[in-house]
Amino acid sequence: MKYKRFFVMLLVLNIFYIFAQQRIVFLDPGHGGKDPGAKGEYTRNGETLTVYEKDIVLHLSKKIHDRLKTIAPDIGVVLSRNDDSFVSLEERDAKAATAIGNKNGLYISIHNDVSLSKTSNGFSLQVNTKNRSFAHALSNELEKITSTQMANRGVTDITEYKHQRKKNADIILNLGFISNDHDVRLLADNNFLDACAACIADCIKEK
Ligand SMILES: [Zn+2]
Repeated sequence: MKYKRFFVMLLVLNIFYIFAQQRIVFLDPGHGGKDPGAKGEYTRNGETLTVYEKDIVLHLSKKIHDRLKTIAPDIGVVLSRNDDSFVSLEERDAKAATAIGNKNGLYISIHNDVSLSKTSNGFSLQVNTKNRSFAHALSNELEKITSTQMANRGVTDITEYKHQRKKNADIILNLGFISNDHDVRLLADNNFLDACAACIADCIKEK
């Protein structure tokens, strides 16, 4: 009888463990330190202002982190970098693997796009097979908040992109073209980044 009770307890603990398995979101702001990523310029009141992708994506990632801590304290959030430091792609993957372990993890890499064509604009997502439905939901929600401001370039398979970047991210978000005058002004706008961060954090919570 004693053993029976022990096994029942073990079973209950097992079920509890499965349901209590912590969710981990690994947020990876691209570039950093000696690697500034794409560089953009725009003029305001006759003054030329320069922005770097590494700063925009860090700013946005920190906002997503803070929002998630508020609305979903049960989700663990880890950043690949939280300052202007250089982290290699291999280090990012290693940090993600350590943070996620065997937990329920989501590895999101955040970038801006750049093109020689000044007219290219909008946001896009690349995703692996496992997170396809989440990426489409996120794409739709982002479109709602950016619809009058930033075009939705859609969701594509991550495999080709990963081939170039050699990163293990589940999702890569390319938010706006830093080479486009309209997009770069949005990316430099704190209110726009706040709205995007709220949208992304809400989608992660609902995942
Ligand atoms: Zn980038």
